[in-house]
Amino acid sequence: MASDHRSLYRAHRPQTFADVVGQRHITETLSHAVAADRAHHAYLFTGPRGTGKTSTARILAKALNCADGPTATPCGVCQPCADIAQGAHVDVVEIDAASHGGVDDVRDLRDRVALAPAQARTKVYIVDECHMLSTAGWNAFLRTVEEPPGHVLFVFATTEPHKVLDTITSRTQRFDFRRVNTATLAAHVDEIAAVESLTLDPVARDLVVRAGDGSVRDTLSVLDQVRAFVGDDIGGEAVAEVLGTVGADELAELAEGIAAGDVAGLCALVGRLADAGVDLRQLAGDAVEHLRRLLLLRAAPDTDLLELGADTTAQLRRQASGMATAELLRATELLAEAQAAMRRGNIRLPLEIALIKAAQPESAGDPGALAARVERLERGEADAGRRVAGDTA
Ligand SMILES: [Zn+2]
Repeated sequence: MASDHRSLYRAHRPQTFADVVGQRHITETLSHAVAADRAHHAYLFTGPRGTGKTSTARILAKALNCADGPTATPCGVCQPCADIAQGAHVDVVEIDAASHGGVDDVRDLRDRVALAPAQARTKVYIVDECHMLSTAGWNAFLRTVEEPPGHVLFVFATTEPHKVLDTITSRTQRFDFRRVNTATLAAHVDEIAAVESLTLDPVARDLVVRAGDGSVRDTLSVLDQVRAFVGDDIGGEAVAEVLGTVGADELAELAEGIAAGDVAGLCALVGRLADAGVDLRQLAGDAVEHLRRLLLLRAAPDTDLLELGADTTAQLRRQASGMATAELLRATELLAEAQAAMRRGNIRLPLEIALIKAAQPESAGDPGALAARVERLERGEADAGRRVAGDTA
């Protein structure tokens, strides 16, 4: 099933509850509810973009309306299933509240909402980005949500649940979709790569997954983008170039520069990457993630929280061994602050200041700096001792 014209996300959009990636806590509950004929009349799906909210809502609509159903495993080929998958079923209404409040004709909608379905067993309203519904838009649904007629089901989906009216929240069953963890996303990328005859080396896959940031849709968009540039044989360097991400070597250089207190080297590195067209905000983000990984490895050496390959973990462990926990903690905090400051305005300065403070604890007066200096002094003496003992000084 090569997908020359459709995006990978659309081509591989989940069609059954079992296909939904990384949200088993939700899909299993919904499966059981459908199988027991106990689906709620209104759901609130919350969570980051691209984590499967709308796909799951469509699958729920199929489960309720499949010719073989209601069933937790809709067939996918009957007329109702096919129409719903195409977004063309007359009784499965998708409303995107992000565009003009979502509702063109509120009165018409209000009149239609409670009506019996034309063809389906259960009429399903899927309201995307529902926090952007206008007040009039909400009012069109409210009455029916409060007094459900039995043949209508609502799925309100949102990335910002705190903006949803209490009257809606209190009458819906809420499911929180999560960012998908790295290992699950990596496995998903592998599956799709196999189907699409793509080859990715482990570094490439790690970069793609990292750029996707827990979103299945974003991860596959990144993969689309990379494939468009480099073809079906995808290496780590090419991915770094396409994404403007910083390579593993540069991140190691940055960590080593901080550990060595090499301000000149760090500023030169920033200059070099800026000249190469790297987005410095991206650099700050990558540096924060890199230092966070070192910090975790340093603070909890046996951790498998990172979900990385053995080679990558071994490299990171080597870098982490050169820095003390207090230093790493402080550097991570400084870079994260810089990242926030870079969003607000000046781009290069906050990054450089953070790197200088991280590399030279003596230049700053905070308690973290003191701890970092002490650890560095102790390490320096230990190093000096080793050098004398090894007669390599
Ligand atoms: Zn069906």
